[in-house]
Amino acid sequence: MSAVLLDGHAIASELLARVKADAQALRDTGRPAHLAALIAGHAGASEVYLKNQKKACAEAGIGFEIRQLPDTVTEADAIAEVRRLGADAKVTGIILHQPFPAHIDERRVREALEPSKDVESMTPANFGRLVMGRFAIAPSTASAALELARRARPDMTGLECVIVGHSEIVGKPLALLLLQSARNSPTVTTCHIATRDLKFHTSRADLLFVAAGVPGLLKKDMVKPGATVIDIGINRVKGADGKMRIVGDADPAVAEVAGHLTPVPGGVGPITVAVLLRNTVELAQNRPA
Ligand code: NAD
Repeated sequence: MSAVLLDGHAIASELLARVKADAQALRDTGRPAHLAALIAGHAGASEVYLKNQKKACAEAGIGFEIRQLPDTVTEADAIAEVRRLGADAKVTGIILHQPFPAHIDERRVREALEPSKDVESMTPANFGRLVMGRFAIAPSTASAALELARRARPDMTGLECVIVGHSEIVGKPLALLLLQSARNSPTVTTCHIATRDLKFHTSRADLLFVAAGVPGLLKKDMVKPGATVIDIGINRVKGADGKMRIVGDADPAVAEVAGHLTPVPGGVGPITVAVLLRNTVELAQNRPA
């Protein structure tokens, strides 16, 4: 068996067409959408994501700026910068690119973020709304992964669903999104670095999300035949030819057993950017007067 590949570019194009029309409507009213990306120190893994955001915003007609802070920035100065962006009338959305340098407590910086401009829904108030199912927008990577999964599994009622990874930006919000329905949610298990027998969990999943940041972590003998596998991992590795390339968390041989699989690159990644832009436009539409 060879898995059906879930094409993220096609879905992203559908989403972006709508975003573009909405961004134009906002410009017509004289209150355009404008996203600010805050980054401290070396961009690292965020570099690809930042580049894609800049390009996508330009194509969609959304303003974009990068606020680059030095890696020596103090926590107080990072918080002050987040507050400045929150008070800047031109800025309608803010994204904090993590990780921050080790001496900064990311949660404190996040707490300083203006909730009405929080495009990743990461402030305590917005995360709380996610827990309670009373949210307008959700973290973009988790939403993108779910958007793809729904194409393969429109009805998830009672499915065995396993998430590998429990970070605050991906795994935890994804679990919350999957558990939104009182009657039609899947059964969700979340695995992480301390999980004792990862294969035991993954091999009974009908729907499997991997977001560990470990290239090839998921081997084909860890996957139930016919399962839907959503590979969220984006890892830069050196190939046999010495060139750097992007791979996911699933070993390529997983395609021999899975029913559906997302390619990396070209799966969750493009949709994440499209959802981020959709979130940006929605916040701009709903901005306080
Ligand atoms: P993170 O480092 O914050 O969290 C990693 C999670 O995986 C943790 O819960 C950790 O406990 C778990 N984990 C690590 N090694 C494991 C192992 N051997 N077995 C079981 N669990 C393990 O990472 P993150 O920010 O959540 O990102 C995860 C991956 O998703 C990365 O590859 C990242 O680049 C990628 N990512 C992709 C997108 C996208 O748009 N597709 C967006 C954000 C992050």
